[in-house]
Amino acid sequence: MIDKNFDLTSDYNSNPDTILIRFGELYLKKGNRPLFIEQLKKNIVARLAKFEHGGLQKLRNGFLLNLYPQSNLKAILNHLQTVSGIAWFAPAWKLPRNLETISDAALKAGASLIEKSKKFAVCCSRADKEFSKKSVQCNTEIGAVIDEATDLTVDLEEPDLEVHVRILHKQALLFFHKFDGFRGLPVETSGSVLTLLSGGIDSPVAALRILSRGCRTDFLHFYNYSSPRAALENKIRELVNHLAGFGTRGKLYLVPDLPFELVSRKFPDNFKMVLFRRHVTRLADKICRQNNLGAIVTGESLGQVASQTLENLTTISAPTKRPVLRPLIGMDKEEIINYARSWGSYDISIDDYKDCCSILARHPRTKTSAAEASKLEKNIELDVLDNEALSQLTTLSYDVNGLEPLPAGEKA
Ligand code: ATP
Ligand code: MG
Repeated sequence: MIDKNFDLTSDYNSNPDTILIRFGELYLKKGNRPLFIEQLKKNIVARLAKFEHGGLQKLRNGFLLNLYPQSNLKAILNHLQTVSGIAWFAPAWKLPRNLETISDAALKAGASLIEKSKKFAVCCSRADKEFSKKSVQCNTEIGAVIDEATDLTVDLEEPDLEVHVRILHKQALLFFHKFDGFRGLPVETSGSVLTLLSGGIDSPVAALRILSRGCRTDFLHFYNYSSPRAALENKIRELVNHLAGFGTRGKLYLVPDLPFELVSRKFPDNFKMVLFRRHVTRLADKICRQNNLGAIVTGESLGQVASQTLENLTTISAPTKRPVLRPLIGMDKEEIINYARSWGSYDISIDDYKDCCSILARHPRTKTSAAEASKLEKNIELDVLDNEALSQLTTLSYDVNGLEPLPAGEKA
């Protein structure tokens, strides 16, 4: 799903029989630790439901995900990287705690890697501190065998091949590659929120950041198309499906922007953007109340555009008492783009899409106040507007495999 370096595993000369999974921040969570671990386990199992594997085995700071010879390693690695709460993971071989056997296994499983490399290092660590040999001694003994049997030279500073060995209590693990996980906390351990999702680059990143802090999220999207189906087909389904891979379950609420557009001629052009966003905030607040969601999340970043000045952000969030979380508030566009690229939403975000902004003025006022906004809103019947938009709400559920189909009979 996301192009990481899993091709490195093509060079293994035998199938790894497990994947070592290392927890993210779970060790900080003291009393809640068992709950967090249980949730992470559930999330991993749900994410890998489509694949054959031999189940999870708990370790002190992680899991072993056991594999069958027929398990699809690359697909499993690909899906594991979207599970929040994992710091890193490594395809590994389970071995007896015998250094000769481990050295031999490294030479066999890593034969092709060895052929491609010049410098190597052995990195041993012991989960079982009672093991008869210290880590440094293990490094030296395994290193000596590899040095003797190959053309490689030892280089602890810049090795191009790392031979990792972990001595556990009953067995040892051998691995060559550690892959970065999504880090953070397991989804569903920090409550539920509503992310305001546009078709742009920022709000999918905001969703990913909030998922990585352990929140489950629903999505609210306002569309500028003639039907929810058109919005879904033009990008939103693909975007939500991508984000769903990092989540566990949730809902997508689709609302047309047409009711706002119809009344917006009663507003000055340079105020329409802020008034539209207040309409979004009011509906988001209602949806949160009805669905027990604790906060509204947006992709706003301070000063990025005219509608995101401190004054305008204050005006926009005034209609709700709920917290408005803005995970990107201190990030610049380049950082946001880099994050979107590394977690796979960027290519979907840059596809053409008819944004609601097309109905709004290009140059909104940079300084507004909630009092001014409320005064302008008196020109229309706010409740009528909000109820009209809500009466056209379409709701779809998603799980780790993506969004359910739109029911037949929905307006095409
Ligand atoms: P993005 O790249 O996410 O579109 P942006 O930098 O273009 O963000 P704006 O268009 O000003 O910023 O939107 C600010 C935030 O308002 C978005 O990050 C998103 O959270 C919310 N938002 C914008 N458009 C919509 C929409 N059509 N439906 C729901 N929320 C929206
Ligand atoms: Mg936008």
